[in-house]
Amino acid sequence: MSSRGGRSSGGGDKRVAGRSGSVESAKKVVDEHYEANSKVEVYPTFESIHLREDLLRGIYGFGFEKPSAIQQRAIVPIIKGRDTIAQAQSGTGKTATFSIGALQSVDVSIKNPQVIILSPTRELAQQIQKVVMALGGFMSVQVHSFVGQKTISEDVRRLEQGVHIASGTPGRVIDLISRKALNTRQIKMLILDEADEMLSLGFQQQINDVYRYLPPATQIVLVSATLTQDVVSMTERFMTDPVRILLKRDELTLEGIKQFFVSVEKEEWKFGTLCDIYDSLTITQAVIFCNTKSKVDALTNKMREANFTVASLHGDMDQKEREEIIRSFRSGENRVLITTDILARGIDVQQVSLVINYDLPMDRENYIHRIGRSGRFGRKGVAINFVKSSDIRILRDIEQFYSTQIDEMPMNFADSIN
Ligand code: ADP
Repeated sequence: MSSRGGRSSGGGDKRVAGRSGSVESAKKVVDEHYEANSKVEVYPTFESIHLREDLLRGIYGFGFEKPSAIQQRAIVPIIKGRDTIAQAQSGTGKTATFSIGALQSVDVSIKNPQVIILSPTRELAQQIQKVVMALGGFMSVQVHSFVGQKTISEDVRRLEQGVHIASGTPGRVIDLISRKALNTRQIKMLILDEADEMLSLGFQQQINDVYRYLPPATQIVLVSATLTQDVVSMTERFMTDPVRILLKRDELTLEGIKQFFVSVEKEEWKFGTLCDIYDSLTITQAVIFCNTKSKVDALTNKMREANFTVASLHGDMDQKEREEIIRSFRSGENRVLITTDILARGIDVQQVSLVINYDLPMDRENYIHRIGRSGRFGRKGVAINFVKSSDIRILRDIEQFYSTQIDEMPMNFADSIN
């Protein structure tokens, strides 16, 4: 094992750098996937979408040149006020799709909130707020994130000053609504990011609670990489004649992400395997997923005792610490992050090109979300699954379910990232 120290990449916001080069490759892959949705109109440029001038400036200023496949199809129905279900692979620009839709729809001369965006984790709600703010940078639009464990008085103060777009986690948003701090009278759009997760049992009640307070004509926009048939059927209850942009299961994995497995036979072998490939993890940036918080803590401690530099994040940490860890991972100061499924969905760090499933995920959907932390917007990525003898069945099931191929990890796997 050569140098183990925490090597800094020099920092800077990687998300803003070098986007346009990969637009074509991302577009090519995804275009083919949408052939089945031929009824949905395609708008090949941002100009053809007829956006407000100050928003268009913000989009170009953010570094986007052309809309991605999902953006070409879903922004217009959202802007037209249609209820919309938008599915696209991870990292293909769904966040910007609904952000642009929301920004185009707000009237900044009205002080009250007009769009609520709900997502399952604080990290995601805060990331979305930053993307909306950046795209709307020329619009004098007020966007705020409302998440748990932050002082509620600050949220109330921000709402008094005027917020047009609210991005939050359901618990905090419902709290603010029921205190009458968040006025829902002018709400015209509710966006559920990671919609399948938001409509799952864990969140359903809270989403219902928010929904009850919204004006009856509120437009509903659902977005996710994974949407089961059950979720789509359920939407009939609260959506009106929605535009559906859907993918088939076998279209969900991205060609740019190579998937491998390593046979570790038993649990005790995983640690040594991880140490063996640590140097490859730090070539760019890597996320390592464990299934429990205690496992994240234990693995982090063990790695540090062995002198490897790693960061870790899970839901039992306090909010300040979570924010600092995400910040330093985004900046590249931390290059290897050990975490739970709390970061499986949505988090966008373009430099992540390696994902390790130290434990195989408990459900098939999270497999797609986890590996999608790499290979953002047409970039290359590698996913490595640590597989105990007793796990082989689960791996084969994932392979079959998504009609994808997971090969044994070759010695030169790191070449696939470069
Ligand atoms: P998703 O929500 O589908 O997982 P994101 O919206 O987070 O994907 O986008 C993934 C990355 O691609 C982000 O870093 C984003 O800035 C970038 N991106 C999105 N749309 C475009 C575009 N039209 N041109 C260039 N880069 C884009």
